[in-house]
Amino acid sequence: MGNRNVNIIVISISSMLSKTLFSNCMRKAHIISIGNELLIGDTVNTNAAYIGQSLTHLGFTVEQISTIPDNYNLIKEKVKEFLTDADVTIVTGGLGPTHDDITKKAVAELFNSKLVQNEDVLEYVKKIFRDRGFTLSPSNIEQAAVPECCEVLFNKQGTAPGMWFEKEGHYLAVLPGVPYEMRYLMDKRVALKIRSLFPALSVRVTDYVKTAGIPESSLSDLIGNLDEYTGNGVGIAYLPNPGGVTLRLSADGDTVELAENKLLAIRRMVDKKAGDLIYAKNKDQSLAEVVGKILSAQNKTIAVAESCTGGMLANEITNVAGSSATMLGGVVAYSNSAKSDILGVDEKLIKKYGAVSEPVAISMAKQAAQKFGADIGVSTTGIAGPDGGTPEKPVGTVWMGFSFKDQSFALKTVFTNNRLVNKERTVMVVLETVRRRLLALETYPYELKPHFS
Ligand code: ATP
Ligand code: MG
Repeated sequence: MGNRNVNIIVISISSMLSKTLFSNCMRKAHIISIGNELLIGDTVNTNAAYIGQSLTHLGFTVEQISTIPDNYNLIKEKVKEFLTDADVTIVTGGLGPTHDDITKKAVAELFNSKLVQNEDVLEYVKKIFRDRGFTLSPSNIEQAAVPECCEVLFNKQGTAPGMWFEKEGHYLAVLPGVPYEMRYLMDKRVALKIRSLFPALSVRVTDYVKTAGIPESSLSDLIGNLDEYTGNGVGIAYLPNPGGVTLRLSADGDTVELAENKLLAIRRMVDKKAGDLIYAKNKDQSLAEVVGKILSAQNKTIAVAESCTGGMLANEITNVAGSSATMLGGVVAYSNSAKSDILGVDEKLIKKYGAVSEPVAISMAKQAAQKFGADIGVSTTGIAGPDGGTPEKPVGTVWMGFSFKDQSFALKTVFTNNRLVNKERTVMVVLETVRRRLLALETYPYELKPHFS
């Protein structure tokens, strides 16, 4: 359990004693995202996702997310409706100095509060402009005007302050739309306010179990029915993505200890069933990081030769801090001539078998290892799609080559017709294959059969 990283979420009882017994057990939150660009699809609403996650971690049930245009009356109506209904409402967008930024005025009117200059914010805005050598415009000065009844959430990441309002036990935070400013205010200001207003009642501990190279359905068959371990605040969720399937295990309890105890049985069961298919027990640990650690422990180095992944494999490996200790280098050999001239794959092999083939994949891996002087060479060559397939080699056909000191082999798979998904899956299968080989496990990802040279 060395790498286990327990995530703890605080859950709390509603302060609204007049509510029903059911709602006493949860706190309700709503989110409002303001901006025409969100509705027409120019901007993806990442703010709502982030805030939803934060509020959930703070023990709230997020019941509604509403995205509305920069429209004065709509803003007023929606904020009023949500504020009355939820314990906490978070609004983002439309706080800037531009013409279309009307959130502040609409909320001020809703609270019957006039806008007043906040001297601290004004000083700060002036300083930012002084430091950058920009001239302060009247609209910039206006950024320091806030509704008289609000509490300013000082924004060290930008010029628009956040604002905190209270009405009859219901709370409202109004934050800028710029994602990093919103995140700063959510983490550094709003979370603290919420924690002090809504004291903790119970906690949720969450464990993540990460696997790669096994389909969700097979993993689920392998683990089997866990009904006897779930319920009473204990839950399991399968979270599949092109990089593998992650399992989220969670348990609620009055204390961390009690919640952890409840989690223990299901965690043991999953550990037992999934065994060495689990590559990490920490949500943030990547497969590349795990492979890097194993390489390091075994004092081995790796080099890559990539065609269809176009550098994604090297990118994934080098996203890990300290990868220079084990990753010697890589070549993106995309064209046939690059494969032969730069990497040194025999032209005749490419001519005879095609670039997407077992002999070429193996040769690419061997050449990578040899050229960089690495213990292990790996390669990718495939038809990423969506076009370019043939009946013998349909879109999604990928050959992956592996050159270990004692043995070389290739794996072939046919993924999807989605280019990016194919690239991501290829990277995952290559890394997972290396992991399994280094740990001397007997299976291959997706139970692929190796072709030995
Ligand atoms: P600014 O001072 O930049 O005007 P603001 O509070 O007025 O800040 P907006 O004008 O609504 O915010 O948006 C600023 C930037 O943040 C835009 O690039 C916008 O696309 C982006 N943005 C706004 N809302 C969201 C959101 N919900 N999710 C992701 N990005 C967003
Ligand atoms: Mg704006």
